[in-house]
Amino acid sequence: MEDRCARQNNKRLNETTMTQLIVDGHLDLAMNALEWNRDLTQSIETIRGSEQGMQDKPDRMNGTVCLPEMRKGKVGLCVATQIARYVETTNPLPGWKSPHQAWAMTQGQMAWYQAMEEIGQMIQINNLDSLEKHMKLWEEPSAETPIGYILSLEGADSIISVSYLERAYRYGLRAIGPAHYGPGRYAQGTNATGGLPAEGRDLLKEMDQLGLILDVSHLNDACFQQALELFQGPVWASHNNCRVLVPHNRQLDDRQIEELIQRDAVIGVALDAWMMVPEWIRGKSTPQTMNVSLEQAFQNIDHICQIAGNSRHTAIGSDLDGAFGKEQGPQDVNTIADLQKLPGLLSTKGYSKRDIENIMSGNWINFLRRAWS
Ligand SMILES: [Zn+2]
Repeated sequence: MEDRCARQNNKRLNETTMTQLIVDGHLDLAMNALEWNRDLTQSIETIRGSEQGMQDKPDRMNGTVCLPEMRKGKVGLCVATQIARYVETTNPLPGWKSPHQAWAMTQGQMAWYQAMEEIGQMIQINNLDSLEKHMKLWEEPSAETPIGYILSLEGADSIISVSYLERAYRYGLRAIGPAHYGPGRYAQGTNATGGLPAEGRDLLKEMDQLGLILDVSHLNDACFQQALELFQGPVWASHNNCRVLVPHNRQLDDRQIEELIQRDAVIGVALDAWMMVPEWIRGKSTPQTMNVSLEQAFQNIDHICQIAGNSRHTAIGSDLDGAFGKEQGPQDVNTIADLQKLPGLLSTKGYSKRDIENIMSGNWINFLRRAWS
């Protein structure tokens, strides 16, 4: 009798923890479709198989994200990016040689999202009404339920001039991270030095006017500080880990985390291995040798919860398709569907059902409700 009871309890635990709706705060789906030439409507096996022998990207044959795997993992909503960098001739980072080319790249990415909408694979979520309808739809999803996406721009270089923002808002852009890696036209990103240029201050003003969300991920410390002072609207960090766990300027220090919590922000924990364990060496370290797993994602989640004193400010911003795959992700994540292991992990660490729901989906959803009401 006792045994059966324990089994039933276990089953119930599995039911509540294994079929949790997941909202992922950061994916680069269109970049994968267009620059990696991945048909994300195909199975992960098909996509990996089609990349045999290819050497042009570090993550060939190791991709973990496609639409069928998102459905399998009940990732019903994500923040999906447009991304295209402009680089001056002195900048060694890969990128476009003019903002106009970068803009055109993002328009191609937009066209891909729209093409996914036309075949019912995805649906753009851009206001309170579409959000609530989508949440209802995902209470009982079918194999055909479209995956929702909130359109975000990672690095604002492609915004030719601030006047383009309104146009972007009209096709659905709802969040901007002004910087990415290196120096940017509007803000300085990871590893870059210096503060916000005048263009960046104008961009933030216009974002405030339009009601866009500011994504502070990738801003360097000086721009992070200036942006928070200037910008009045809703702020999130779509994919960011903690500097106390892995010391690097890409990560948020505790003071920044506190500041974000005061702004009612949500911080999405990223699953890029180099941001999860110290001293990761790109192309050399492996998830196995460095023992990278969802355990470190938990440590980041827990650190933010401990600072906040609650579970309302952290979530998932996996970045699982951000130019890396299995070779640079947690060893217990074969595909994005394995995000469903997190609820169970959080549960074994003593997190309550409510806390787990907050972290897996509720915090992003409630953030959007606040931002859009
Ligand atoms: Zn990204």
